[in-house]
Amino acid sequence: MTLPGSLPLAAPDRLAFQVTRNSAARSADEREALLQDPGFGTVFTDHMVDVCWSERGGWHRPRVQAYGPISLDPAAAVLHYAQEIFEGMKAYRHADGGVYTFRPEENARRFNRSAKRMSMPELPERFFLQALHELIAVDGVWVPSGPDQTLYLRPFMFAKEAFLGVRPAKKYGFYLIGSPSGSYFSGGVTPVSIWLSERYARAAEGGTGAAKTGGNYAASLLPQAEAAEKGCDQVVFLDARGNVEELGGMNIVFVKKDGTLVTPDSGSILDGITRNSILELAADRGHAIERRGVSLAEWRDGVASGDIVETFACGTAAVVTPIGRLMGEGFSDEQPQGSLGLSLREELTDIQYGRREDTRGWLRRLDA
Ligand SMILES: *Cc1c(COP(=O)(O)O)cnc(C)c1O
Repeated sequence: MTLPGSLPLAAPDRLAFQVTRNSAARSADEREALLQDPGFGTVFTDHMVDVCWSERGGWHRPRVQAYGPISLDPAAAVLHYAQEIFEGMKAYRHADGGVYTFRPEENARRFNRSAKRMSMPELPERFFLQALHELIAVDGVWVPSGPDQTLYLRPFMFAKEAFLGVRPAKKYGFYLIGSPSGSYFSGGVTPVSIWLSERYARAAEGGTGAAKTGGNYAASLLPQAEAAEKGCDQVVFLDARGNVEELGGMNIVFVKKDGTLVTPDSGSILDGITRNSILELAADRGHAIERRGVSLAEWRDGVASGDIVETFACGTAAVVTPIGRLMGEGFSDEQPQGSLGLSLREELTDIQYGRREDTRGWLRRLDA
C-alpha cells in the first residue's frame, strides 16, 4: 500500500499533460477590457491545470483544460473533513515581455509540508513547477503589464474520494488557476489598523497553523469580523503562549531602534516567503535579524518607550503593509511610522518586476 505522503516509486520526470483549448476563450478585446482594472480574485484566465492522484495510480491524468466548475460527489471528503491545502504566488510581466515568478520552489516545498500535515499526498516539486509552465503556456497573455499588476497564481489540492469515514482520503485533485490582479492598494500603500483578538485563536500549539490550509482561514473570519466591528482593517492573533503570532494572512515584523528586525517564531505561524525574502534583503543591508517569541508586552512597551520604531505586515498579496495602529480591549496604541518596510518593499518588487538585478537567483522564467 502507498501511504499518503509517500511517492509512488515510478513517478516520472515530467507529467505528459493533455492540453485541450477552451473553445469559449475570451477574445483579445474582451481580455484587454478585463485587464484594465481586474481588482483581486474575481477575474480568471481561460484555462486551468487539473491532475488526479489515487493510491494505485499516483499522480495521473494531467490536463490543461477550460477553466470551469469541478464536479464533486456530495460525499467528497473535502466537503466534510476539510482536507485542503493551497498556495499563493504571482507571475510578473517584465519590460522585455518575459513572464517570471518568484521563488516557486519555496512554494512547492511549503505545499508539501502542508500536504504532510493534512495527511495528503506530496506533489513532486518538479510537477508543481511544470504545472506553472503549462498554465502560462496557454494563458501567458493573461499576465497583465500595468503598474503593480500581476497574474495571481493559486495552486490547490483537495480530497475527492466519496467516503464519509474518518481517515485520509484515497483520491485527490491538484489544480492551478490564475487570476489577473491589480494593485492591492487602490490609493497607494497606507498604514492599516489592527485589532488584537484575545477571544479567538487562529491556530493551536500542535495544530495546523503552519500549514496553508483553508480551515485556518475559516477560523479567522469571525475574529476578522470582530476587528471590522471595532473599526480595524485586520486582526492580529496571539499564540498559545500569549506571544504575538501573525495576522489572518500576513506575517508581522518589528523594527527596533537599533535597526534590529524581530519577527515572531513558533510552530503555529505560517512561514511566509515574503517575510523570509524581506529579512534576507534587510540582513544584506546590515540589519540584525531575530526570530523569536515576542510578547504582547514587549510590543506595547516597546512602542511606548520608543524601542520599537516601526511595525509592518508582509505576504505575497499585499507585499508589505505598514501597521498604523494596534487596538484591543481597552487600549489603542498609535504605531510609529518608519521608512524601512516601504524601502524593503520597493527593493523586493523591483526584483520581482525585473527593474533591479536578481543577484540571488530568486526569479524563474515561466514563458520560455
Ligand atoms: C500565505 C500566508 C502568509 C504569507 O506567506 P507568503 O509566502 O509571504 O505569501 C502569512 N500568513 C498566512 C496565514 C498565510 O496563509
